[in-house]
Amino acid sequence: MDKERKLLIAGNWKMNKTVAEALDFVQDLRREATGIKEVDIVVCPPFTALDEVSKAILDTNIRLGAQNMSEHQGGAYTGEISAGMLKEFSVRFVILGHSERRQYQKETDALIAKKALAAHAASLKPIICIGESLAEREAGITEKVLDRQLNGSLAGLTKEQMQESVVAYEPVWAIGTGKTATSQQAEEAQAFVRRTVAAIFDDTVARRLRILYGGSVKPSNARELMSQSDVDGALVGGASLEIRSFIDIIKNSI
Ligand code: PEP
Repeated sequence: MDKERKLLIAGNWKMNKTVAEALDFVQDLRREATGIKEVDIVVCPPFTALDEVSKAILDTNIRLGAQNMSEHQGGAYTGEISAGMLKEFSVRFVILGHSERRQYQKETDALIAKKALAAHAASLKPIICIGESLAEREAGITEKVLDRQLNGSLAGLTKEQMQESVVAYEPVWAIGTGKTATSQQAEEAQAFVRRTVAAIFDDTVARRLRILYGGSVKPSNARELMSQSDVDGALVGGASLEIRSFIDIIKNSI
């Protein structure tokens, strides 16, 4: 697939897999992904498996991501994990503002912006998640919601930091529901995201930015979604837990 931007496919394991299960998975992934150069492959295990997975993917084409981090550098924040701590395990990416965290942990755009700045300060690339709910789509306010989330979550980033960030468009109604956005819906929303980033930053930043689609991506819909001009990869939940479906998504996207 001929794209200016390199595809990025990230697996978000959420609160799944013991260390032993994670190691089984990455051993298979190492074998299956050998030689794939067209896609940046990222796995995002739970914190507890980062250390072992990090060692298991050393010297491979697989990169490590975390699912969250604190906006603080350190101190009295019980239960939190800082960007610096993630760096100890060679983490390169961190998912921020996933809709589950926005919903269950009440994360706001302002908090996500602070986390994104903290990630960049530690040279981690944030994967900043945005997306409308079903009610918002049905009310015809998808673009308004995306505009608000982008302006809020990207606040304070420099152009250089924005270019090194990744945005994941994940319509909430498509996450874990089996309901995928049509490729046309994904393209429309993601083209809007790129236009909005161009308006906030500039055209060059927007052109270089990778925008992922997330929401029930599976091997059977990956090719069609990835063929859209503003879809530069995928953030995959459920289908990233099984080696066969994750690798087939990657292979079908090339
Ligand atoms: C996600 O949680 O980021 C996600 C896209 O999940 P799923 O692929 O299971 O819809």
